[in-house]
Amino acid sequence: MNWWMCSECDYVLQAELPPKKCPSCHAECIFSDVTCYIPECGGAGRLNMKMVAEKAKADKNKIN
Ligand SMILES: [Zn+2]
Repeated sequence: MNWWMCSECDYVLQAELPPKKCPSCHAECIFSDVTCYIPECGGAGRLNMKMVAEKAKADKNKIN
């Protein structure tokens, strides 16, 4: 199982593959893989919180 983050609303979900439509904002958005693969973020298969925070920040910068 991987973690996916919606590029539109920052919604995070766990699934084998990302859905076509986001269940939160219902947009056909790009899902970023925010799964942790290294021990530094908690171990393989965990949600990479650092990546989530960085992506959320990058999205805010894009709007501003
Ligand atoms: Zn969304």
